[in-house]
Amino acid sequence: MKIGIIGSGYVGATTAYAILLMGNASEVVLVDVHPERAEAEAADIRHAVPYVHPMVIRAGTYADLEGANAVVITAGAGQKPGESRLELLGRNVKIMESVVDQVLTYTKNPMLVIATNPVDVMTHVAAGIAEKKGLPSKRVIGSGTTLDTARFRSLVGDCLGVDAQHVHGYVVGEHGDSEVLAWSSVDIGGVPLDKFAAMRQVDLTREVKESIEQDVRRAAYKIIEGKGATYYGVGAAISRIMDVIMHDHHAILSICTPTEDVVGVKNVTVSLPRILQADGVVGTLPLHLDEDETKSLQHSARIIRDRIDEYEASLK
Ligand code: NAD
Repeated sequence: MKIGIIGSGYVGATTAYAILLMGNASEVVLVDVHPERAEAEAADIRHAVPYVHPMVIRAGTYADLEGANAVVITAGAGQKPGESRLELLGRNVKIMESVVDQVLTYTKNPMLVIATNPVDVMTHVAAGIAEKKGLPSKRVIGSGTTLDTARFRSLVGDCLGVDAQHVHGYVVGEHGDSEVLAWSSVDIGGVPLDKFAAMRQVDLTREVKESIEQDVRRAAYKIIEGKGATYYGVGAAISRIMDVIMHDHHAILSICTPTEDVVGVKNVTVSLPRILQADGVVGTLPLHLDEDETKSLQHSARIIRDRIDEYEASLK
C-alpha cells in the first residue's frame, strides 16, 4: 500500500516511523511546505528500514502521490501570540482546503485520514471539499478519539487487573475537553463493567472513575506541558488505522466522519465507534449510553457544530 503524508512535523514524521515499524505500507511519501524538512525526515526514517520492514520512504511533491491508496493530513499551523481560536481555525481551514484540493488532483479515490486539530472540525471541512471533488465522505475520517479510547481501555484494564485488549469501551464525541467516556457500555470479555469489577473485588467508586476520566481528558495537556507536543501515541494510532485500511479488517474504531444526526445534532463530525474497512466507514455502532452520557454526547456534538457554524458565518 502506498501512503502519502502531508505535513512532516512531529505527527507526520512519527506516523511515517510507526507505519514503518508496524509494516503497514510498501511506500510512504512525505510532503511539506518546507521540502527540506520532508527530505530530512525521510532520510532519517530510511536509515531504520534495514532493521525492520522493507519500505520505500521518500520526500516528494503532490504529483508524487499518484497511486496512493491513503493520504494522512497532519499539516497545520500553530497558534500565533494574540491569535484567537477562530483566527487559527480560519488559517488551518485554508491550509486544509489547499491540501485536499491538491491531494485529490493527483490521487484517485484515496482514503483521507485527518489528524490536524481541531480534528473534528478539520475532518468536516476536508470531507466537504472532498465531496465537491467526488470523494464520498465515508472515505474521509479523522483520528478522532482513537487515542483517548486506547487510554480509557488501558486505565480500566489496569484498575481491574485485566489485559486492555479484553476491555471494550469507547470515548465518544469531540476529541477534546467535551469528550465523553461511555462507562455504561463498557464490558470486559462480554461481562458488564460493574459485574466484572465485583468479580475482581474492585470498588469502582465515583472517585476512581473521576480519576480515570481526568487521566484520559488531561493526558495530552500533561504531555504538552512536559515536552511541548504529542506525537508517538497519535502516530501509532494512525498507523493502526492504516493497518485496518490496508488489510480490510472491518475493525471497530472510535473515529470521526460526517454524520447525519448525533443525538439530534444534524450534520456533524464527531467520534463514535465505527466499522472501518478498506473502502471507508461502513457503519456506526448504536452505542448504549445512559441519560447523562447521552446529554454529554449531545453537548459535545453541539460544540463541534457551533464551531463549524461560527467558522461558516465568519466567511460571509
Ligand atoms: P508541526 O508544526 O511539528 O508540523 C506541522 C507541519 O505541517 C510542519 O512541518 C509544516 O511545515 C507543515 N505544513 C504547514 N502548512 C502546510 C501546508 N500547507 N502544506 C504542507 N505542509 C504544511 O505540528 P505537529 O506537532 O506535527 O502537529 C500537526 C497537527 O496535528 C496539529 O494540528 C496538531 O494539533 C495535530 N495533532 C493532532 C493529534 C490528534 O490526536 N488528532 C495529536 C497531536 C497533534
